[in-house]
Amino acid sequence: MISVDINKKLGNLDLSAKFDIYNNGVTAFYGPSGAGKTSIINMIAGLIDPDNGLISFNNIIFFSSDNKINIPTSKRNIGYIFQDSRLFPHLSIKSNLLYGVKKDCNKNLSYGFDDITSLLGITHLLDRMPSKLSGGEKQRVAIGRALLSKPNFLLMDEPFSSLDNNRKEELLNYITIISNDFNLPIFYVTHSIEEIIKVSSNVLIIENGKVVKYGNTSDMKNEI
Ligand code: ADP
Repeated sequence: MISVDINKKLGNLDLSAKFDIYNNGVTAFYGPSGAGKTSIINMIAGLIDPDNGLISFNNIIFFSSDNKINIPTSKRNIGYIFQDSRLFPHLSIKSNLLYGVKKDCNKNLSYGFDDITSLLGITHLLDRMPSKLSGGEKQRVAIGRALLSKPNFLLMDEPFSSLDNNRKEELLNYITIISNDFNLPIFYVTHSIEEIIKVSSNVLIIENGKVVKYGNTSDMKNEI
């Protein structure tokens, strides 16, 4: 379970978000531009600090202003997939993928390197440099790199918004497969209703820095 109860002043926006997410499927963070979606997931990731509040995952406290706890991003064990893939340009695809692998983790991974590259259809790209990949291929590598780090959960911030519709459709299928096969919670920021309906099991609607609704995607179809 991820538990969030945070406050943060961001320019003119008073962000004040409180929610608990129990399920392992895909939870969409939906709302208009400027509502605070990215800021919330950046606080979960530890990329920005709340002014005060609490963020925990299962029994691990990531941030607590009361207890003066603030676990650094690198220790939160989170996979973060951004809109741009953020691959290391000077490293081959294979080196990019191996970058986050923890040496002692492989034996606990139910999916190894070969399984992940084959699932994502990137095996033939391993020797290439990032500059030789298409946008969709780069995002598949970014997903592979995140999965190989054996994260507690994945954060995705509009990961496919720069891709054309066919590529987007293809990658959305991967999200569904990953969510099912890896049993990983995925928090997926989007303002696309089509994407929500396609990939998410739950939706958190965020408006003006507040969570206004949270529920099952199929129950909320008419409200989004
Ligand atoms: P969303 O992801 O829903 O589009 P964001 O979390 O990116 O929203 O931004 C929420 C609001 O906070 C926006 O109005 C944005 O301008 C503002 N904001 C974000 N970061 C900062 C910052 N570092 N300083 C001041 N205002 C910020």
